[in-house]
Amino acid sequence: MPLTDHTPVYQNVQSEHLRAWFAETLSHYPELLDRPIYLRKISMRYSTMRAQPVINWRFFRRKYRHYRVDFSNHLEVTAHVKVRELPRDVVVGWFAHELGHIVDYLDRPWRGMIAFGLGYALWSRYMREAERRADSIAVDHGFGSEIIATKHYLMEHATLPRHYKKRLKKYYLSADEIEALITAYEERGEMPDIVDI
Ligand SMILES: [Zn+2]
Repeated sequence: MPLTDHTPVYQNVQSEHLRAWFAETLSHYPELLDRPIYLRKISMRYSTMRAQPVINWRFFRRKYRHYRVDFSNHLEVTAHVKVRELPRDVVVGWFAHELGHIVDYLDRPWRGMIAFGLGYALWSRYMREAERRADSIAVDHGFGSEIIATKHYLMEHATLPRHYKKRLKKYYLSADEIEALITAYEERGEMPDIVDI
C-alpha cells in the first residue's frame, strides 16, 4: 500500500513500468502530496534526468507551484541504453534523487528559485551541495540502497565516457559518502515513515 494515493501526471511516458515505479517512488514523499507532479519524456542533449518547477503564473506562488521531472529517451552517456531498459533499483534511485530536488525547492520563494538556478549553473560548489541535499533527502525517505544502486550503475557502466565519470566524481556523492549518510540516518534512530515494505 502506498503512503499516499498521489497520482502523477504523465507526459509522453508510454512505458507502464516507468509509470508504476515513478508513482511508487512519489508515494513515499508525503510532502509532495498536495501538488501536481509531472513526469515527462523529452529529448535532452545535456542531461538524462532533471527536476524543475513548471514556469507559469503559479511559479511565483510557492504554494501553488507545479514541478516536473524530465527524463531523456536515452541515457545521455550511452547512445544505446534506454531509461526504460534500466534495472528497477537504478531507476527508482534516480527518481528518488529528482524528487529530493523538488523537496529542496518547496520552501523557496520565486526569487530564491532564480538564485538557485543561477548558483547551480555558475558555481560548482553550489551545484555539489544541491546534489548532496537531493541524495540526502532521498536517503531520509528510505531510498538509500536505490541511490547507491544508481551510483554503482553509472560509475561501473563500461560505455560511459571518461569526462562524464569525472563530472560524476566531482559533483556527486560517491557510494561511500552515501553509505555514511545512510549510517547517520540509521544512527539518529529514525525509522523511515514508511511501513508498507
Ligand atoms: Zn541532481
